[in-house]
Amino acid sequence: MPLSSVNPANGSVLHVFETWDRPRIDKALSQAARIVPEWREIPLDQRAGLVRQAAHVLRHRRDHFAVMMTQEMGKLVTESRAEVDRCALVCDYYADHAAEFLADEPMAAGELDARVVFQPLGTILGVMPWNFPFWQVFRFAAPALMAGNTVLLKHASNVPRCALAIEEVFRDAGFPAGAFQTLMITSDEVGRVIEDRRVHGVTLTGSEAAGRAVAAVAGGVLKPCVLELGGSDPFVVLEDADLDRAVEQAVVSRYRNAGQSCIAAKRFILVPQVVDGFLSRLKDAVAAIRPGDPMKEDSGIAPMARTDLRDELHQQVRDSIAEGAIPVMGCEPLPGKGAWYAPSILDRVVPGTRAYDEEIFGPVACILRAEDEDDALRLANDTRFGLGGSVWTRDVARGEAFARGLACGSAFVNAMVKSDPRLPFGGIKDSGFGRELARPGIRTFMNAKTLVIR
Ligand code: NDP
Repeated sequence: MPLSSVNPANGSVLHVFETWDRPRIDKALSQAARIVPEWREIPLDQRAGLVRQAAHVLRHRRDHFAVMMTQEMGKLVTESRAEVDRCALVCDYYADHAAEFLADEPMAAGELDARVVFQPLGTILGVMPWNFPFWQVFRFAAPALMAGNTVLLKHASNVPRCALAIEEVFRDAGFPAGAFQTLMITSDEVGRVIEDRRVHGVTLTGSEAAGRAVAAVAGGVLKPCVLELGGSDPFVVLEDADLDRAVEQAVVSRYRNAGQSCIAAKRFILVPQVVDGFLSRLKDAVAAIRPGDPMKEDSGIAPMARTDLRDELHQQVRDSIAEGAIPVMGCEPLPGKGAWYAPSILDRVVPGTRAYDEEIFGPVACILRAEDEDDALRLANDTRFGLGGSVWTRDVARGEAFARGLACGSAFVNAMVKSDPRLPFGGIKDSGFGRELARPGIRTFMNAKTLVIR
């Protein structure tokens, strides 16, 4: 099956790429294997120089990459530019901190001279999604390369141009051939690549179904695996919250990237005292979001990335309404050829509705009404997912206590959940396992070897 690049704003086909046959895949695996011993021996400061150079290439060609992203998966060009900047930032971050993160760690072991030394595993496969087509890749590739691993990318089938452009970034930055390679393959070939003895670990960001498939193969061949899957993050508003600020951040978190973010706030859990104040502000703010050509600076929301994703979202919304949820705004596709969906609010989302039980990966805010603070925490944790969560209150101690009770990988008080190179990122429960970014992110695909000298 070819890999098609389609502009979701208007349905036009930008490019169709042939997928690789097995000999071509084998050639890439051999090339990665050949470069492994050389790449891991390059001194850390030289690797850091190359990673910094990748940041430079990104900044230098920022607009070119941003337009490519917008054309291929639809996000606003302003969001695409910010994404390129963040990729450069994560490169700089690991170039600056790798020496500290990978330094030997002395261990207190009495008479023994003991330490832990960190060594790369070899070649790591990244199976990546389309929603942040540059960021998701750089988030795992920058630390993996900095650590001395080589990287293979299997990107989502709808972003092949971005996939090739990322390979170009590393090539133009001066990385040796084979240190970073994009595999032009569909998901059918992923299992074989994981099983190949020239591959030493795999990381996947995407849906639960893809995560389960990849983890099953990795488990079968005993290779380490990181899964960053979906989320249904709660956004809990207590009675003493600053409602203006909470709604402003709620809108950014839910509608940015047309709602297609794993850590978007998806379930807005309101205690009775704030229902009216929060909802009236939210309705005003959502009414002001203007869908428009994602290439234009003043457009307020972009199309979704594919029409099938839009149609699936709408089915979830329709089913939830049939199950008792109340449409407050939007809740309909927008007319036209592209994958457009109206910025939407769905109220009275209760257990048993699809919007309560499933991830809503699009611009639809789901409102859940809690009886009180205890009930708000119960609702927040009543989900299969456990990626992030936030709580809004003027009482910071109360907020911290609440955040400690959230069953998730990242809990924020009076701030929307964001991924930041300086902070570990990942989930629990059906949101996956393992951590990316910060110190844990670079140690993920390393052998923490115990070294004892007498
Ligand atoms: P997928 O999870 O299917 O795609 C993510 C990546 O996994 C792609 O590279 C895909 O390849 C690959 N993949 C899919 N199935 C398998 C498999 N069985 N074995 C190996 N690799 C596989 O996401 P979709 O594009 O289908 O989006 C569907 C839903 O996934 C969204 O609505 C959302 O809920 C969730 N999602 C979550 C993301 C997140 O950030 N956590 C990001 C994207 C999606 P290919 O494209 O070739 O199928």
